[in-house]
Amino acid sequence: AGDAILRRQRVRESAARTYARSFPIVPVRAHGMTVEGADGRRYLDCLSGAGTLALGHNHPTVLTAIRRTLDSGAPLHLLDLATAEKDDFTTALFDSLPPGFGDRSRVHFCGPAGTDAVEAALKLMQTATGRRGALAFTGAYHGMTAGALAVTGAVEVKSPLPSGGEVTRLPYPYAYRCPFGEGARGAELSATYVERLLDDPSGGVLPPAAMILEVVQGEGGVVPAPDGWLREMRRITTERGIPLIVDEVQTGVGRTGAMWAVEHSGIVPDAMVLSKAIGGSLPLAVVVYREEYDGWLPGAHTGTFRGNTLAMAAGAATLRYVAEHGLVERADLLGARLTGRLDALKGRLPVIGDVRGRGLMIGVELVDPSGEPDRCGAHPADPELARRVRAECLQRGLIVELGGRHDAVLRLLPPLTVTDEQVEAVLERLAEAIEAASR
Ligand code: PMP
Repeated sequence: AGDAILRRQRVRESAARTYARSFPIVPVRAHGMTVEGADGRRYLDCLSGAGTLALGHNHPTVLTAIRRTLDSGAPLHLLDLATAEKDDFTTALFDSLPPGFGDRSRVHFCGPAGTDAVEAALKLMQTATGRRGALAFTGAYHGMTAGALAVTGAVEVKSPLPSGGEVTRLPYPYAYRCPFGEGARGAELSATYVERLLDDPSGGVLPPAAMILEVVQGEGGVVPAPDGWLREMRRITTERGIPLIVDEVQTGVGRTGAMWAVEHSGIVPDAMVLSKAIGGSLPLAVVVYREEYDGWLPGAHTGTFRGNTLAMAAGAATLRYVAEHGLVERADLLGARLTGRLDALKGRLPVIGDVRGRGLMIGVELVDPSGEPDRCGAHPADPELARRVRAECLQRGLIVELGGRHDAVLRLLPPLTVTDEQVEAVLERLAEAIEAASR
């Protein structure tokens, strides 16, 4: 049955399928970090729905919340009317927000994907400032609708749309290949560049409606921005009256070892874009923003699927479970263990160019060690090798996805509920796969 399903999918579905191309499996059951295929094989899922499954697949707490809501007879779809489920989700969300932000915020329910929330945040700031245009970063990923695409960095996914004429793209502090050099000094120069560009009347930058950034770029290759650089971006935008939107679609809900990734640097954004894990594996997206930006009149921004009752119930259960079961601290601890061990592996395997990340959002950049190093000393990225490693991982029962500028970064996004044994299994299978692929 599995083979027939795969054959029909290949014929009927658009060839633009992403994950399906590299994972020819038909999942029939899933629990926690384990996915079982129609052929009976079991896989450890290090992709977690691109970071969506904070509690892994089919967590009992999430399933109970969904079942209880179904059994209660609550309306499943009610546009944006008030429901007890929405009220409860909003309480859980506001309780989780960082101090200095949550206590003076409003929420706008968008629907149903991360990209919808990005659109809403950009438009909200255009309304508030009366300006157009945005500042965005190289390597950024914000979604596939027109506005979100305009602030996304990857050129190939934009084509053939215009690249967003009013967007000024700034260099993200990608330390491994930083155009300004490695480490703190590189990040400092990068911030200076941003500031000078904004202040130079011949720099070609009109005052924008907002700056949008990810604290750790996910699709861009798991690139964490240094805390000092983030604080500089906050200072620069505050001094110039530019609202700062932080896209926490992938980094939110404990993923980076903080409930929200902004907490590491302590910056207080003007708006946060949230999706993925906040819906507890069902589609849900919101923008949370400081109350002074609440400038929309009724009807100014609408949408049919603005908050699905089941997603709200699943999301509230997830937010509370993460907070109450120490999963944020655990993401920090296990993330440090994983990156430490991968760093040790890097010493042994020269095809590992860089290991980086925060919490359980980890990237391993694969390189060709025989290639000429760039000005930062980084060898050329090796996407061919990365594809072979992904295939070798799959053969060993490990699902990992690629990302980054050259698709040469292995992205590890295990659920926050990953066990110590599973961490060991991931490390073992990954090391074997890299060795096998680079032989
Ligand atoms: N922002 C970030 C940081 C993301 O990682 C993603 C999805 N990978 C999006 C926005 C878009 O979310 P969606 O795919 O749900 O539209």
